[in-house]
Amino acid sequence: MTTTSSTSTAPAGSSIAGNGVQVARPGPRQMMDRLAKAKHRVVVLGGGFAGVYTAKYLSEMLGRRTDVHVELMSEENYFVFQPLLPEVAAGGVSPTHVVNPIRDIIPKAQFRWSKVQRVDVANKIVYALQGEGKELVAVPYDHLVFALGKVSDFSSMPGVQQHALAMKDLSDAFKLRNHVYRCLELADIEDEPAEKAALLTFVVAGGGFSGVETVGELSEMLHKVAKHFKNIDPSEFRLVLVHSRDTLLAEMPPKLGLAAKQILQRRGIEMVLNARVRAATPLAVYLNTGTVLPTRTFVCTVGNATNPICKSTLQEDGFVEAKVNGRGVGLFTVDLELQCQGHTNYWAVGDCAGVPMPDKPDELCPATAQFAIRQGKTAAQNILATIDKRPEKRRKFGFKGLGTLASLGNRSAVADMMGMVHLQGFIAWFAWRTIYLSKLPGMVRRLRVTIDWTLDLFFPRDITQMESEEPPQLRMAHFEPGELIIQRTQIGRELFVIQTGEVEVVDPDGKLLATLQKGEVFGEKALLTDAPRIANVRAKTAVDVLVMTRPGFAALVAQFHPLESFFGDLMQKRYPELLRDQNLRDVMAAAATAATAPTPAAMAAAAAVMVEAVAAEAAVAVAAP
Ligand SMILES: Cc1cc2nc3c(=O)[nH]c(=O)nc-3n(C[C@H](O)[C@H](O)[C@H](O)COP(=O)(O)OP(=O)(O)OC[C@H]3O[C@@H](n4cnc5c(N)ncnc54)[C@H](O)[C@@H]3O)c2cc1C
Repeated sequence: MTTTSSTSTAPAGSSIAGNGVQVARPGPRQMMDRLAKAKHRVVVLGGGFAGVYTAKYLSEMLGRRTDVHVELMSEENYFVFQPLLPEVAAGGVSPTHVVNPIRDIIPKAQFRWSKVQRVDVANKIVYALQGEGKELVAVPYDHLVFALGKVSDFSSMPGVQQHALAMKDLSDAFKLRNHVYRCLELADIEDEPAEKAALLTFVVAGGGFSGVETVGELSEMLHKVAKHFKNIDPSEFRLVLVHSRDTLLAEMPPKLGLAAKQILQRRGIEMVLNARVRAATPLAVYLNTGTVLPTRTFVCTVGNATNPICKSTLQEDGFVEAKVNGRGVGLFTVDLELQCQGHTNYWAVGDCAGVPMPDKPDELCPATAQFAIRQGKTAAQNILATIDKRPEKRRKFGFKGLGTLASLGNRSAVADMMGMVHLQGFIAWFAWRTIYLSKLPGMVRRLRVTIDWTLDLFFPRDITQMESEEPPQLRMAHFEPGELIIQRTQIGRELFVIQTGEVEVVDPDGKLLATLQKGEVFGEKALLTDAPRIANVRAKTAVDVLVMTRPGFAALVAQFHPLESFFGDLMQKRYPELLRDQNLRDVMAAAATAATAPTPAAMAAAAAVMVEAVAAEAAVAVAAP
């Protein structure tokens, strides 16, 4: 993208960028009027703790002034109170009660719902996608505040991106809650012991705040709801916390990390310490120690990475990357006034900023909400002092922390109060709840969370499993050597295209039928004929496959003729008896209308087997003393 230049082909008010993309003007007439009146435009990027509090303090300090236009850009129109996400995932607090509309918190500033694409430092313009992501807009600024936080990046661990759940945003917490109830529903009707055990195993990676709080809350939730599931005994639950160090909660004094570990262990949570996740598949989590944890639920709280916008700005525009022990950590270096080193009128706050710890210049402030909020306040003061040309009003960031708290579920927590008082158990949990309740923005949200907590004390949790969305029609999956990708006799619902690695097709007697490689396809027969799978397919090496669902595949074949002829030829080669003189689309249409239910003869045979099995169980029960 290059800078804008007006051309005659662009609609009124917009212009065409150098690469031909239409760039919209910043907004409607009302906004343009305000922008025209303003002598200073302050744009804040990011709607988390740091960005929202910067915009809030700045717009409040401005009062009725119209010479400064404050605008906040964020990809969600709500602010998430992240410390309560583990409770949302565990169903203790309703998802809508931990979010606030950003417009409610910053009524005096302009909010722009948009996804930032790039910062053009030379021309002082932020490019962002808005309007359902279809329109590129150019937003000019005089002062720019980076408050974009960090992002989850699991790409260094094969399969983790595809198969792990994160715990960073509201949707992550909501997804995890529903996924856990899905596993419980499936486990309650699962006959195969290994599959049931995997459904009841919950693995969390990361011994920091989010990992520890997530595993603690999950454990409480599982034990609270177990009574609803007649065929699940709470002793069958397996919760595992994987951590790369030997103590949990590195941000807290070691004594409290140890206390947290002991409290969680007493509740039956397994600790796998000094171990790292090496890979993940739909079937298991693989550790670098060689341990394999079969599971259907893997929550990964490690893998925080630099926000891509911060990364590209740091690389391209002469900003200085902060270093710890000589190593770049992907954060903007700022001074204690929170101004980015190397540029004036650029500020960085929160998790994307490398703010020196007051009195300890070799250390950086921790990435926590309490620091982000205070940094927002300092940045707001300093931006205003700079605009007003009153350097004597500029402040240095001096906050040193009030302590740290981690909730462990089951009415227990660990708390370090101002580094002086260390609490654990119920009293720490009480302090945790009181403090976080007081920090929630807005009286209404505080009241709602208090009601949630009170109801949770007296009433059972809601175990409704709400699928939030259909599984994607196309997705990537990773398998480790030896894992079964397709199991014989199962109903075929997906088709696989090998991206990397090799798979083996094996008949029921274990005889190798074929080895398939990159670019080859398997699983197509069951989709085309609606028949059960006829062979096992297992990963020979580590394998990455593109998975296409039945409706996605049907739509592609029906609409895209080269694909139809490719699969037609493939079927002709592999299963000539299936196609005979028909074309592929007719075969698929017939399969789609055919019932997946078995034939009457098959049903009669299955019923006989069932009657026999029930009679045998009854005989054992009568014989028992
Ligand atoms: C589960 C969990 C529990 C936690 N518990 C605690 C705790 O108990 N105590 C504590 O002090 N801290 C806690 N933290 C840490 C704390 O939440 C963070 O330090 C804090 O949220 C950082 O705020 P931030 O504004 O810098 O970043 P974020 O909160 O990450 O906000 C970044 C914002 O930028 C937006 N954004 C990113 N990229 C773009 C883009 N391209 N375009 C537009 N918008 C974009 C995002 O949507 C988001 O609104 C916890 C964090 C988690 C995940």
